[in-house]
Amino acid sequence: MKDYFKKLYKKDANTFYSELKKTLKKEKKKFIVTANPETFMMASKDKDFNDLLLDNNVTMVPDGIGIVKAAHIVKHDVKERIPGVDISEKLFEYGNELGKTLCVLGSKQEVIDALRKVLTEKYPNLKIGALLNGYSKDKDKDFETIFKTNPDIVLVALGMGNQEKLIYKHLNKFKKGIFVGVGGSLDVLSGTKKRAPKIFIKLNLEWLYRICKEPKRIKRFYDNNIKFILNVKKLMKQ
Ligand code: UDP
Repeated sequence: MKDYFKKLYKKDANTFYSELKKTLKKEKKKFIVTANPETFMMASKDKDFNDLLLDNNVTMVPDGIGIVKAAHIVKHDVKERIPGVDISEKLFEYGNELGKTLCVLGSKQEVIDALRKVLTEKYPNLKIGALLNGYSKDKDKDFETIFKTNPDIVLVALGMGNQEKLIYKHLNKFKKGIFVGVGGSLDVLSGTKKRAPKIFIKLNLEWLYRICKEPKRIKRFYDNNIKFILNVKKLMKQ
């Protein structure tokens, strides 16, 4: 787990967003993983996911406050949260400004339909390559469809782990593009689900809001976070 903390992006969010814009402008390639305690726990049990996280082509940013606080405890100077939902929104904005092509894979069809509406209304200059829901049987074929649009931004929302592994499997054939596993972000950006009120975000309690809204998350949250805290405690003793 030590290596995951070492690997985390350490600068502030605005610096990260300006780097993203530069990557888009210069048509470079970037694969972003937005990390939560669940990410670290999954990677410590799954060798393929571990290798993916530690790959030099992967940029790992702290999505949630749990990661930021734990990084401080183990003496890594991580500045602040860089949540997937904010990254996605910035990419829409920059893509619109620069006339870039966006592809999305994941979430339910109703979310995709709502997202299409938001994108065409709010970001008219952003080109839509493919918007595909995450429930087809052949995700490799979906990625092939995405590849053919020559995209600049590819957001994949299939849940932690699956989304990153799918991107990683196909990343090599792309010459350019920003690839991000965005989890439930599209549910929020499409307006299908509400993001936490600003005060929750400011107080770093966005996780609490999500749990209250979706109590089925409690077990997953409890399991991952308790184990994560125990692991961080172990690191403190090293
Ligand atoms: N999802 C999907 N296909 C699947 C399973 C999940 O498209 O086979 C989508 C789901 O609709 C949701 C996202 O993946 O939009 C996962 O969201 P969740 O909030 O669970 O992800 P997290 O951000 O917590 O990893």
